[in-house]
Amino acid sequence: MELDPRMTLSVAISALLMAVVFHFQARSFPLTIQGIRRWSWTFCLLGCAMLLLATRGVLPDFFSLVVSSLLLQAGILVFYSGLCQFQGRTPHLSWMALPMVVNAFSLLWFIYGEPLLWARVAVNSFTNMVLLASCLRLVLVGRVGEPRFRFSKLHTGIFLAGLMLVTCVRGTFALVYQPVVVPHVSGQLYAVFSIFYPSAVMALSTGLVLMAFDRLKDELEYLVSHDVLTGAYSRRGFLSLAESEISRALRMQRPTALLVLDLDHFKQVNDRYGHPAGDVVLRRFTEITRTCLRREDLLGRFGGEEFMVLLPDTTPSAALVVAERIRTAVHATRVTSVHHHIRFTVSIGVANIVGRGTLEELLKLADSAMYLAKSRGRNRVEVV
Ligand code: GH3
Ligand code: MG
Ligand code: MG
Repeated sequence: MELDPRMTLSVAISALLMAVVFHFQARSFPLTIQGIRRWSWTFCLLGCAMLLLATRGVLPDFFSLVVSSLLLQAGILVFYSGLCQFQGRTPHLSWMALPMVVNAFSLLWFIYGEPLLWARVAVNSFTNMVLLASCLRLVLVGRVGEPRFRFSKLHTGIFLAGLMLVTCVRGTFALVYQPVVVPHVSGQLYAVFSIFYPSAVMALSTGLVLMAFDRLKDELEYLVSHDVLTGAYSRRGFLSLAESEISRALRMQRPTALLVLDLDHFKQVNDRYGHPAGDVVLRRFTEITRTCLRREDLLGRFGGEEFMVLLPDTTPSAALVVAERIRTAVHATRVTSVHHHIRFTVSIGVANIVGRGTLEELLKLADSAMYLAKSRGRNRVEVV
């Protein structure tokens, strides 16, 4: 029922190697991607636990059984908290610590109080299973907004589930066969463990590396398609989405509207209150505009203080209502920055396509409507 020391040594070496990989991955990844450093600690703890377990019979049981088992569970706990960090979730560590405490007391009891190998193995296996189950749930749920299916998640999930299954088999075997000695079953089962545990640790860590790269890809895609200051779409992100939205609208013969929005005398805001205050105004403007839009509307920053809004399935009269709503909301807003209350206004040009037209034509029309609004005194909505 005890694990083969050669197998535990092999797991220890793989785990320590992966700790180094995750350490360098965490260092080279952007600060916005958190949690990988904790995975490095996870594998470090797992490696140390397995090294101790391999010293069974050489070191006292307290180290090779109790300390190694607690190190392993501490590793799973750190893994769980790293996954939470990776996914931007709050960890519930007290729930996770409870099985660990139960395991610690039962280990001490079944080694020094009433030595029972089967009971020690069973309690240890089942607590490990509970801890792994919490990690598996997190991996499968994923990050908010992440695609439901991802090979990296599936791969990690399968090997975590595999580890849980094998741990469960080991615990069940200890419970069911506890009074009887069944050497041939035991031998075959432990041969399976010896193959499975080292490969599962490598496969699990590969899954985590893939998850980290998927996250990096998401981050880069976001940076390319979004404006860093305001969080609105960038010119590139906006144009590619608007292009497909317009071809959909033309196919379905649905009306679409485009607004070009330009803040009035924004240079004066910068000159009077400073560039950082200007940035606060740009961010606030984006927030206000978002509150006036539906989920399916697109908001993009075209550069400087010029923004675009695409309103799918919107008639010309409804588009005017939206534009006017944005203009009045902006006009009514005061932005507070370093003891200053800044007021600002926006000029909006509106253009529509009903039936035919291209994004380029729409942009040109909305732009000339915006310049018309500027020439007619600013803080206005104009349509061409
Ligand atoms: P108009 O009413 O005719 O549009 O005048 P304006 O002052 O708004 O337009 P102009 O094009 O003269 O000035 C735009 C200003 O926007 C100049 C530039 O310094 C400022 N600006 C552009 N990008 C940023 C930014 O990211 N942050 C800040 N704070 N200011 C920016
Ligand atoms: Mg301007
Ligand atoms: Mg401008």
